[in-house]
Amino acid sequence: MVIEYVGQVIRQVRREQRYKEEGIGSSYLFRVDQDTIIDATKCGNLARFINHSCNPNCYAKIITVESQKKIVIYSRQPISINEEITYDYKFPIEETKIPCLCEANGCRGSLN
Ligand SMILES: [Zn+2]
Repeated sequence: MVIEYVGQVIRQVRREQRYKEEGIGSSYLFRVDQDTIIDATKCGNLARFINHSCNPNCYAKIITVESQKKIVIYSRQPISINEEITYDYKFPIEETKIPCLCEANGCRGSLN
């Protein structure tokens, strides 16, 4: 285990739209399931700064602790000092593509 992705547990997606309207450019929303999102925009920890990679050294997993769903980042392999920690965001496929800049071997070219 590397770190838990913590934030405010919210039950709707409208928040992303609200942040856009308020001029908050980057929001840190992590979908847990159909109707639950963890929002680390205003309260979160270092996990929210972990970048995406198409060939990452970590992965995110949803686990349940005392009936509460948590997002936990686990390592896939040994990680060296100063090596960047990354995981695959696994965004849903959409028509409007978000370009991927990860530069990893086998980069898919987009985040979604
Ligand atoms: Zn990539």
